[in-house]
Amino acid sequence: MTSQTSQTSPDLQHDCAEDSYPAVGPLAAAEPGRLLITHVRPYGEEETSVLVEDGFIKEIGCDADAEADRVIDGGGNILLPGLVDMHVHLREPGREDTETIATGSAAAAKGGFTAVFTMANTQPVTDQPVIAEGVWLKSQELGLCDVHPVGSITKGLVGKELTEFGMMACSEAKVRMFSDDGKCVADPLLMRRAIEYARGLDVLLAQHCEEPRLTEGAVAHEGETAAKLGLRGWPRVAEESIVARDALLCRDYGNRMHICHASTEGTVELLRWAKSQDIPLSAEVTPHHLLLNDDRLHTYDGVNRVNPPLREVRDNEALRDALLDGTIDCVATDHAPHGSEEKCCEFEHAKPGMLGLETSLAIIAEIFVHSGLADWRFVAKVMSERPAQLTKLPGHGRPIAVGEPANLTIVNPDATWTARGAEMRSKSENTPYEGMSFSTQVAATILRGKVTYEAELS
Ligand SMILES: [Zn+2]
Repeated sequence: MTSQTSQTSPDLQHDCAEDSYPAVGPLAAAEPGRLLITHVRPYGEEETSVLVEDGFIKEIGCDADAEADRVIDGGGNILLPGLVDMHVHLREPGREDTETIATGSAAAAKGGFTAVFTMANTQPVTDQPVIAEGVWLKSQELGLCDVHPVGSITKGLVGKELTEFGMMACSEAKVRMFSDDGKCVADPLLMRRAIEYARGLDVLLAQHCEEPRLTEGAVAHEGETAAKLGLRGWPRVAEESIVARDALLCRDYGNRMHICHASTEGTVELLRWAKSQDIPLSAEVTPHHLLLNDDRLHTYDGVNRVNPPLREVRDNEALRDALLDGTIDCVATDHAPHGSEEKCCEFEHAKPGMLGLETSLAIIAEIFVHSGLADWRFVAKVMSERPAQLTKLPGHGRPIAVGEPANLTIVNPDATWTARGAEMRSKSENTPYEGMSFSTQVAATILRGKVTYEAELS
């Protein structure tokens, strides 16, 4: 477990971090042998066959009956680079009753993902190398999905003292993103220090934007619906004030930063401004903030409680436009499993969060591709390429080309399936899409040449 990279002197930390790009910690081995994928359409374009050898793409446009150890008939489906999710909660260590690295990896593979970043609000909090290494090494033993641990920005997520970014960045987990997600780093001086520290190591900070004084006791978007239903409101300004503040901190202290789960029209305006000023601020949006709004709260069903809350139609529209024009960089699921006792209770007491890994591709395809707003190259960009670029993650989000690692997803755009919490690979069932039908389904997922998921043929 020990290596020369666990040195702690500041100089070595710096060198190590530089060396750590593009390397990652010890990877699960690529699948040896030859895998032939026939009749697939890369990015939804011309049909071809792809030959994978020892985990890498060896040939595109090969003979459909080339010799191989295994053949997958793509059936004319779409081939995308394996999806990358910058924001999930796999709950291990501490809440293995709701999700584990194993069940979360299986859910990720079923959703088309080959790499995910799991947030630090575990129990104990991922604020030390040993916890991060445990997550990373377990995911590599399983070999279903690369699960990269996110380190916390502050010790114990209490917002008082910074963690040792350098130690975590240099650990075997090679932590490359830090976030207190679930909580906001509300103290502006502490955030300034975090930005300065992160800059030296070239790691990404991801902020959960929520001014805590403005959301005390809040459970729903502050608006007409919450007022009618008697629910305490979470105003847009609680998010936007932190986005604005952090954009300015980013500008003045010069490091890139990432906004988690953008949820309001105003946040989009601020991001647009920041990008126009060349401030290195990136952002993600969740499928649920693109698709759902607070109309759903009338049933008082705890499954609809999420943080930030479901907002209004005009926010959905602004977020969609922003993803289309690049103001928002990527999609992230914020996959947040909870047990039924945490969701089937009074709305105010329900834990915020929704499942996302197994439905996200279907939702993004529905909103953008089936509607004609965008094509599959767009989906590859916002669900694979951009998240891999933002996290400087090697081997993922790469073009489908000879010599690249075979991290791939085969997508059936003409399936018919219905989301059911009970049928999810996730250990929890809290999907807000229960009973909803979709037409896009992952047919197979491939990690370094190994098939990690394959839909049952109907
Ligand atoms: Zn969050």
